Amino acid sequence: MKKLAINGGKKVREEFFPAYITVGDEEKQALSRVIDSGVLSKYLGAWHEQFYGGPEVLAFEKEWAQYYGVKHAIAVNSATSAIYCAVGASGVGPGDEVVVAPYSMICSATAPLVYNAVPVFADIEDEFFCISPEAFEKVITPRTKVVIIVNILGVPYDVEKINAIAKKHNILVIEDASQSPGIKYKGQFAGTFGDMGIFSLNYHKHIHTGEGGFVVTNDDDLAQKVRLIRNHADAVVGSIGMADVVNMIGFNYRMTELQAAVGREQLKKLRGLIEQRIENVAYLEERLKDFPVLKAAKPREGGEHAYYVHAFLYNQKEMDGVHRDKYVEAVAAELMPFIIREKEGVTLGGRNTPLYMQPIFQKKNAYKHSCPFSCPHYEGNVSYEAGICPTVERLFYEELIVHELMRPPMTKKDIDDVATAFIKVWENRGELK
Ligand SMILES: *Cc1c(COP(=O)(O)O)cnc(C)c1O
Repeated sequence: MKKLAINGGKKVREEFFPAYITVGDEEKQALSRVIDSGVLSKYLGAWHEQFYGGPEVLAFEKEWAQYYGVKHAIAVNSATSAIYCAVGASGVGPGDEVVVAPYSMICSATAPLVYNAVPVFADIEDEFFCISPEAFEKVITPRTKVVIIVNILGVPYDVEKINAIAKKHNILVIEDASQSPGIKYKGQFAGTFGDMGIFSLNYHKHIHTGEGGFVVTNDDDLAQKVRLIRNHADAVVGSIGMADVVNMIGFNYRMTELQAAVGREQLKKLRGLIEQRIENVAYLEERLKDFPVLKAAKPREGGEHAYYVHAFLYNQKEMDGVHRDKYVEAVAAELMPFIIREKEGVTLGGRNTPLYMQPIFQKKNAYKHSCPFSCPHYEGNVSYEAGICPTVERLFYEELIVHELMRPPMTKKDIDDVATAFIKVWENRGELK
């Protein structure tokens, strides 16, 4: 008789896992306060007292800046908008290159295209999955103006090495900390090590406002440019007599009062939610300590891990040559999805396709006439061919197993089921031949 659920056996788990829900009465009260005020957003897209937004947005920005210990925190309607603002404020444009991570959410690699700059991929570290300092240095050219470094999965990037290389080559650092809010590296918050830091408040992140994001910076000039791009810069730069208006095309990336009110409550919960994740991961790793198939990815020395998601490295040999994809398919069949998100199924695997494999890069067709790749101002010849970042390809296609089965309110008993499923498939690996 077959034992594995993928072959018709009984599942390890028959019940849904509990949903990750971070909002409750506090957020309801905050929303009521805004509804009662009648003002759901209080921006004016003109040089005016309300150019910077309403009372909830301003309070949220102040609280975010205090929390992270930065001079400026600028609220926007997503991290995607935040990265667009940051890239715009950096001043890059046609002919420039921006170094980006191949392993991330796609907007952290496509953002330079919005300003007609060319993204250049640098391979990742095989332990922490952030851009590797060696790979970064190798792709730098005289055209490189900015690097968008991502604290991927919740691990802070190699701050000392990357920042030193950036400084040497006069490259501005944008730190995408969307997956690493509220954690520290050597006593300082991740997200505050670059010239600008990015945070996300989308539904999938540690804390959320439905949609939302932040740019943080200690630089007054960059902060002002971000604020302008967020809110119709082109309608405002004349009134304030701004001399250099490069990239000062305005958008509407404004956060509403409703989101800001929710976010102020969410920020209070952040640390507690991270601590629960750290605790759950420790328990799962302890359960699988001697399990030969999976090796847990560790935090970087000197830093915490936010565990946006948790990662294992897969040892195919210990599974008698069974491919990672087959293994995770069998493990997923033993388990159940999160309630509320049932339709997503149990997601286990490499998670982020190497970004240069996406059509926008493969076709080099961000805009008509293959701009900006064949722009007359661009003197480089960037490659997006398969193989340019071998580490990310090996990890994504063969070795990484990324999962969310450690998010609160998962209990130890829930996590026991996860560990049991991983082990059961190994014990019955003969069935997968
Ligand atoms: C989620 C995420 C984003 C985009 O966030 P949005 O708020 O949905 O725009 C960007 N970068 C990284 C690394 C992310 O995880």
